[in-house]
Amino acid sequence: MTSTLKMLMVEDVPSDAEIVLRELKRNGLEFIVRRVETEAELRRECVEFEPDIIVSDFALPHFDGLSALRIVRKLRPDVPFIFVSGTIGEETAIESLRGGANDYVLKTNLSRLPTAVRRALQDADERAKRLETEEALRLRDRAVEASVNPIVIVSATDPDMPLVYVNRAFEQVTGYSRAEVIGCNSRFLLGEDHDQPELDKIRRAITEQCDGQAVLRNYRKDGSLFWNKLYVTPVRDPRSNRVTHFVGVQYDVTEIKGYQEELEHQANHDALTGLANRNLLKDRLRQALALAHRYKRPFDLTFIDLDNFKLINDSLGHDIGDRLLKIAAERLAACVQEGDTVARLGGDEFVLLVAEQEHEEGTYRAVQRVMAAISQPFLIDQREFKITCSAGIASFPRDGEDADTLLRNADTAMYRAKDLGRNNFQLYSSDMNADLGERLTLETDLWNAVKRNELVLHYQPKVELKTGRIVGMEALLRWRHPTRGMIPPGKFIPVAEASSLITEIGTWVINEACRNNKAWQDDNLRAVPIAVNISARQLHDKDLVDTVRTVLQTTRLRPEHLEIELTESAVMMHPEDAINTMARLRGMDVRIALDDFGTGYSSLSYLKRLPVTGLKIDQSFVRDLAFDPDDAAIVRAIVAVAHELMLDVIAEGVETAEQAEFLKTHGCTEAQGYYFARPVPADQMRALLERGNLPVV
Ligand code: C2E
Ligand code: MG
Ligand code: MG
Repeated sequence: MTSTLKMLMVEDVPSDAEIVLRELKRNGLEFIVRRVETEAELRRECVEFEPDIIVSDFALPHFDGLSALRIVRKLRPDVPFIFVSGTIGEETAIESLRGGANDYVLKTNLSRLPTAVRRALQDADERAKRLETEEALRLRDRAVEASVNPIVIVSATDPDMPLVYVNRAFEQVTGYSRAEVIGCNSRFLLGEDHDQPELDKIRRAITEQCDGQAVLRNYRKDGSLFWNKLYVTPVRDPRSNRVTHFVGVQYDVTEIKGYQEELEHQANHDALTGLANRNLLKDRLRQALALAHRYKRPFDLTFIDLDNFKLINDSLGHDIGDRLLKIAAERLAACVQEGDTVARLGGDEFVLLVAEQEHEEGTYRAVQRVMAAISQPFLIDQREFKITCSAGIASFPRDGEDADTLLRNADTAMYRAKDLGRNNFQLYSSDMNADLGERLTLETDLWNAVKRNELVLHYQPKVELKTGRIVGMEALLRWRHPTRGMIPPGKFIPVAEASSLITEIGTWVINEACRNNKAWQDDNLRAVPIAVNISARQLHDKDLVDTVRTVLQTTRLRPEHLEIELTESAVMMHPEDAINTMARLRGMDVRIALDDFGTGYSSLSYLKRLPVTGLKIDQSFVRDLAFDPDDAAIVRAIVAVAHELMLDVIAEGVETAEQAEFLKTHGCTEAQGYYFARPVPADQMRALLERGNLPVV
């Protein structure tokens, strides 16, 4: 016992107090002491002095010992209290002990006091400790029971390791009641799902008798899955140090797990279409490359881009564009097999990675399936859209040995497919890179072409086959490039189409053609319609009709002397819109011809709905007219249809007298082609108009 213990003495006679203290000191008990005589003093010191033990006389002049005991028990219930008194009756002694005194020592037998003090202090000490432990245990019990996490205790001494305790949260989370599970091994939580790699971590913790944690798929009583992050800790017997139990604390991480999976999915998938994104594609490409390197097996990467998607997106809004992309993505995904990857790189760019075992054959078939699937009409809000796609294929190892090179080269090949008129696929070849560079500089130069007056129109007459009379002309665009010379439209119109430049260029063409035609008419040359080509993007530009109207007003050319040439594919891209624009142009009396007719996919019934005034038979049918009976039949059929629908019909690309002859005999009234005249600059066209007639057969 330490000397810092504090003793409060209730004693009116100081010398008696001295005797008591001396006796204690003699036995090695020293205290810091305060002495009180009155009730008030006692109350005060109980609170202020905070004694560890109280020694009290029984008979006091100011108040009696029993009252003192009552006060102390009220203020300091746990502090040992010993009476030291001269005389006392047996009854009083009993009463005092009942009242809570720890002991009673007679002044005549003071030698017993040190023992009594020691015992009382020890008792108090033990009681305090016991209370503390009990309190701690009670707290722990409540904590375990109240924990929102399931907590289980498992016996480690029984070989089956049965559950001996589960808390309330366990019941709530798993749906099993305590009665159902106590005595059972907790493996029932795994359901049928025993093949979980993380289980090894728990098994190891148990055999090695150490802490362990694992994330497990557990199943509730109703069979539903929850992710359980389980911590296990061994509990040792303090005496033998043997592990007697394991405590398991569970965390239901289903939500976090779901969130993580979601995040992982988001990180690897395109939000709009759910296809793999660039990240995941790069991953898959890495895997494919590793396998390909190891087994020396080639594989293909295909870049796919929707044709004219930008046009739909810009003119009809992103909502329609997004929905179209989603449908396109579904179709793409349906075209490949398990193990293949379809990724969206953004915009309307997709990549196909076909698993290597079916190389080439597999890729071609997949790409053909893709092209067929995409060209099916898209139905959005009861409106039909038709688009096509272009694809480029790069092969490992021929066209690149790493992901970036393969992607870049497949992209280049795709661009070539676009340049070749879209709706086709191309295999990469090394000369394409040069083309790509050229394409890029071309685009930059084109920005300046209009401003620098580098664009010129050439004109090609249209003649009446019976008489050779010039009945019209077509304006054909040329680009007089400062360093490359004359560039034909096939080379730069697609570049202009891919950017917004086409609108500016198109407006210039319409204006220039109308202005020239009007100038010739003003010079009393023959008044004939001038045909202007309009690209798909121009046709779907909402300003087209206004542009045409303004040009006609400012040039004062009569509307029937302007003809717009459109291709079927431009119309079919979004027929409703196109028909609407065409109807408005017709409403102004502008003529409209379907260019390259026969190469597109419009049906006869569709043709009836199109507000056109004429058809231009595509030159591919004219070319082999004399040799190919199929072409001859097609031309005859087109002529018949045109007559039926009361449309003008003209054949393009007429190069020989035979062709002209054939056309004439089969009812085609007009023709255009090198046989009569090549496209020529304005001054030469003027000369042709002055002549008025060209020689025919
Ligand atoms: P297109 O409208 O079908 O024009 C006919 C093309 O055939 C012209 O090629 C013309 O020069 C060529 N051609 C004419 N007669 C013969 C012939 O007897 N034999 C052969 N082999 N070809 C003949 P060009 O001028 O290179 O134009 C190509 C295409 O570029 C045009 O096809 C048209 O779609 C487009 N284009 C031309 N000018 C413009 C324009 O101002 N705006 C737009 N958007 N497109 C244009
Ligand atoms: Mg044309
Ligand atoms: Mg044509």
